[in-house]
Amino acid sequence: MAPESSAPGLWDAAGWLHEARRVDSPNFDARPVGETVRLLVIHAISLPPNQFGGGEVEAFFTNQLQTAAHPFFEQIATLKVSAHFYIQRTGALTQFVSADQRAWHAGVSMWQGRERCNDFSIGVELEGCDTCGFTKAQYQRLAKLAAVLQTRYPIEAIKGHADIAPGRKTDPGPFFDWLRLRRLLRQNTAQQLQPSQAA
Ligand SMILES: [Zn+2]
Repeated sequence: MAPESSAPGLWDAAGWLHEARRVDSPNFDARPVGETVRLLVIHAISLPPNQFGGGEVEAFFTNQLQTAAHPFFEQIATLKVSAHFYIQRTGALTQFVSADQRAWHAGVSMWQGRERCNDFSIGVELEGCDTCGFTKAQYQRLAKLAAVLQTRYPIEAIKGHADIAPGRKTDPGPFFDWLRLRRLLRQNTAQQLQPSQAA
């Protein structure tokens, strides 16, 4: 659906962020009629598990994962999943699905009594795992992305996948620093409100 408001220049009309590298995933569909984005969901992923820097996550979200490359891939190769955004350890940002569309990232989930969080959320995957921290570049990119998303959608909350699918999911894991994100968010929001930035 059409966004309620949008800062000019950051987005194209179809919900793609100009500053992100675009890689189209086929794993999406339309949000329910009348639905908009109210929630940002933070995930962590690495493929193979706990290994960083390869192109396997991108391959996974575009249904091109080579199952022979790693035993774990056979378990997940038939899954059809995606996230709107993916932030690598370097801070590099990739967008797989238009933010206006429904990506398939949350699965069985609930937030404020509402099921199927994919209907009304944006999914952001961080390259990471449950046993290590995230990089400064990732926090900075994530905070900036969250601020930019708030220019387009009435986002009410930022939650981890584990928060909306407890018992089933653990990401972004115990090393994700929510306080750090909150601090950066305050800075980014304040910057956006500076008249000199808006001129
Ligand atoms: Zn997740």
